[in-house]
Amino acid sequence: MHPSDAKTRPAENVPDGVKRESFETEGMDTRQVQEALGRHGVPLRTGVALAEYSWFRSGGRAGLLVRPESVEQLVATVRELHGAGVPFKVIGETTNLLFLDDRDYGCLVTTTALRGLSVDPGMCRIETETGVSLPELSRVALKHGIAGFAGLEGIPGTVGGAVFMNAGAYGDNIARVLDTVDLILPDGSVETLDAGAMNFEYRNSILKTGAHPGIVARARFKGKPGDQKRLYRRMETAHANRHRAYEYMYPNLGSIFSGSVYRSLGRNDRVFRIAAAMFYFFNYRFRFYRRETPINRKWLNDLALKRFPIKFTNQPFSDKSLNVLVNNGHHTDELLDYIRQLHELIGKDVPIENEIVEPF
Ligand SMILES: Cc1cc2nc3c(=O)[nH]c(=O)nc-3n(C[C@H](O)[C@H](O)[C@H](O)COP(=O)(O)OP(=O)(O)OC[C@H]3O[C@@H](n4cnc5c(N)ncnc54)[C@H](O)[C@@H]3O)c2cc1C
Repeated sequence: MHPSDAKTRPAENVPDGVKRESFETEGMDTRQVQEALGRHGVPLRTGVALAEYSWFRSGGRAGLLVRPESVEQLVATVRELHGAGVPFKVIGETTNLLFLDDRDYGCLVTTTALRGLSVDPGMCRIETETGVSLPELSRVALKHGIAGFAGLEGIPGTVGGAVFMNAGAYGDNIARVLDTVDLILPDGSVETLDAGAMNFEYRNSILKTGAHPGIVARARFKGKPGDQKRLYRRMETAHANRHRAYEYMYPNLGSIFSGSVYRSLGRNDRVFRIAAAMFYFFNYRFRFYRRETPINRKWLNDLALKRFPIKFTNQPFSDKSLNVLVNNGHHTDELLDYIRQLHELIGKDVPIENEIVEPF
């Protein structure tokens, strides 16, 4: 179990019905829109502490957290918020989001209650609502012997968040299996796009670039027939590898930057390049001795700290990787400072994968 799973998520226990309090965003009193959402039966809470709610356990306060329980409620929420001119952000499991401490955020709309899923095993088709988790999607695919999803099993986010950024791992990604997606437009209408129209690239799509304003409501996936035993082995290997090589002690958001930061650092320093290559070969490629033990890169990280001017008070990254932020009681300003330093060292052309959420 991921450590974050063990923590309580108070906002998941949104009581039925609506709690209305005055919540202002940019001088705008949102009581009317709260009343409107109440008429649609959409549960919501005010004044949510993001440090308790978000995956990374960071961030100030969300003025309003709306949690639709059906696609119809999500559509109504989008229409009402747009209609009232209330800025908002749709979130899934927040596994890629760095909310900043001491900031007041406005309205967040979480999709985590939208968990409908149906399978047509004969056609290798799976249809999901936007809040279905990737682990669930890939395990359902495994159960029905549908190939194309095994590598996604360890990605902790929702289908909506995954479509947004074309999530992927171990050779599988959303672009390869998505068939069509239903997107909610600002006026509340729903548009169905083929995967081809999403312009998927590495960790990118028209939703992420902002070229399309849609919000994922449902997705339809098309896999291929696969041998269940082989798929199980692939998934098991990927799962075991994550446990061996990924951070699990502290809240984290996966990779900060795309690609290998060690390779990028190595471009600037010959000694580090050779050390990193040796580390890779002995720990990953030709690991004959104690292969099953967890991998951490503390030795290599310490070398990086000697070779490069990276400064911090409380180590902001995982021993497993310089490329993974950890929340060990940090203020997010310390983490932003580390991200900035690392970005300067690896090159500004390397895209950042974690999303730093500024108040909107
Ligand atoms: C331990 C760990 C390992 C990870 N490993 C991987 C990995 O191997 N590969 C990988 O790709 N990612 C990985 N990630 C990152 C993350 O899990 C994925 O990016 C995931 O797809 C995010 O989904 P989410 O539901 O948490 O989205 P969130 O973090 O809540 O949101 C991410 C973005 O998507 C947008 N969004 C969310 N839902 C919708 C929607 N319904 N419609 C439109 N936009 C929406 C949000 O506005 C936001 O901009 C990892 C994260 C962690 C914590």
